[in-house]
Amino acid sequence: MNKITTMLTAIMFFSTMVHATEFKAGTYLGTSDGYKGEIKVEVKLGKNKIEDIKIIKNGDTPIISDSALNILPSKILNLQGLGVDTVAGATGTSKGFISAVTKAIKSSGADTSELRKIKETKKQFSNKVINHENDVVIVGAGGAGLIAAIEAKLAGANVIIIEKMSFPGGNTLISGAEYAAPENWIQKKVGISDSKEQFYKDIIKGGDNQADINLIKVLADNALDGALWLRDFVNVSFEDRQMFFGGHSVERSLVPEGASGVELIGKLLKKAKDLNIPIVYNMNANELILDNTGKVIGVQAVSETETNKYLAKNGVILATGGFGSNLEMRMKYNTAMDENILSTNTTGITGDGIVMAEKIGAGVTDMEYIQTYPTCDPMTGALLYIGDVRLIGGSILVNKEGKRFVEELDRRDVISMAIKKQTGNVAYQFWNQEMMDLSKVAEHHSDEYNSLIKRKVLIKGNTIEEVAKAFDVDATELKNTVQKYNQYSKDGKDLEFNKRGKLTAFENGPFYLMKNVPAVHHTMGGLTIDTNARVLDNNKKPIPGLFAAGEVTGDIHGTNRLGSNAISDITVFGRVAGKNVVNN
Ligand code: ADP
Repeated sequence: MNKITTMLTAIMFFSTMVHATEFKAGTYLGTSDGYKGEIKVEVKLGKNKIEDIKIIKNGDTPIISDSALNILPSKILNLQGLGVDTVAGATGTSKGFISAVTKAIKSSGADTSELRKIKETKKQFSNKVINHENDVVIVGAGGAGLIAAIEAKLAGANVIIIEKMSFPGGNTLISGAEYAAPENWIQKKVGISDSKEQFYKDIIKGGDNQADINLIKVLADNALDGALWLRDFVNVSFEDRQMFFGGHSVERSLVPEGASGVELIGKLLKKAKDLNIPIVYNMNANELILDNTGKVIGVQAVSETETNKYLAKNGVILATGGFGSNLEMRMKYNTAMDENILSTNTTGITGDGIVMAEKIGAGVTDMEYIQTYPTCDPMTGALLYIGDVRLIGGSILVNKEGKRFVEELDRRDVISMAIKKQTGNVAYQFWNQEMMDLSKVAEHHSDEYNSLIKRKVLIKGNTIEEVAKAFDVDATELKNTVQKYNQYSKDGKDLEFNKRGKLTAFENGPFYLMKNVPAVHHTMGGLTIDTNARVLDNNKKPIPGLFAAGEVTGDIHGTNRLGSNAISDITVFGRVAGKNVVNN
């Protein structure tokens, strides 16, 4: 370091450590809204220093929000300022946290505007290229990537996972992670008869005969085995109940503890850690590396500061998820999926694996089939766990006119299309306290519940009139609708929409009404693969060294994926890819 740079560094260091603000020393609390829930902090101020920041409450999704909350407090303390960058993918949590800290400092009487001007310096990108050597490189630390990594490691390979976000889990993490498995242990316990063949038929029908029958056979035949592997080897804890997802002919969806992807991803991460599988975060893969025979021998990725070449002796597995967060790509394949439609996806789900593989000649299929989830948050597009009350058969959907308009357990695309035809393109989901208690959704997801109530997306009231009035829904008609439905429940037959499953009446209040819109959820299209999870080129020939699993692949769900089949898919094909990359 020469003299000038030493001086500059000293000045920069000095300017970041001392600022004009003088504090009234003490401990102050601040609260703000995160992405889904509330964030509360305790800030300790000395006379000239922000001394400590403690997070008292975090109502956002664990793992994603941790990626922000694990680093932002120390960044503010090091900077002694509030001009820190938000963490990509956890922007809502980051903003909520910074706002809570700001409020706490403000409550001390200090002027925070000067603190906001003290900003982080950006890191420089260098020309450095770093080589890494492994047997297997997995791109994406979502559900399929973690599962594939575990199997590849168990098969004896030296494995590394690279992940472009600062957190793992992808869309799997924010899903309910329910798992469709025919002939499962709960079905046996409660006496539901089911079979692999029936599951196979449901997938074909649910995807309008567009799925690849060989791939579905692998999925149907191995779904139960995958669930047992998750339960008994990965130690995923499942609840003692099932959910009834739309389009399935029987109730067959297993529910991980808390009905959230956090249990599944949390346990997969633990297993990956126990097996010493490294995960490199903030590492964005952007190009596959080929040898001169056309074999994939690695992948290039960029971090904030340099280029990395991850070489793979056995091969690369793409597990980058779909493209629900890539508006341009969505519209390239399906113009209806425009900016007016929100998305349930995490921000990293931008189709990178599809683009990288297509560049080296991989085939793609079904790209125009983009599924919207029918009952999302009208403000953010987020998947709502509270809405899962529908999947135990416990709610009805009505329109502004107070009338039902669709079978509530029909396919997601059918319900979404029906909602789009209603006044204001919205649906209102109605249920009562008995269903709320039975589904346990408010108990499991109390932060989401509180946020929905606070934002008036969900209304609780003692009478049907009260909840209807809040959304200007026709109260008289809603009362008629509920009365009719209660009668169907008594008669055991829904004469209007032939709703499957058990019909349960809404006799007593309190009642709930929630405003919902469809949002982009799952992209059915993707890379063509064979039953060994090998990526195929345009002539349906395997590309040596390249594998793929999960939402990045196409042909498994046809035009429309049935609810809870994604977790079965990532488990079955993640395992296939992880084993075959080592033994191909
Ligand atoms: P799946 O359901 O198929 O397992 P997920 O959505 O759970 O897919 O996970 C996909 C993961 O891949 C996400 O964590 C996402 O951030 C990551 N990812 C996407 N593109 C890239 C990329 N270019 N480089 C590294 N990781 C990526």
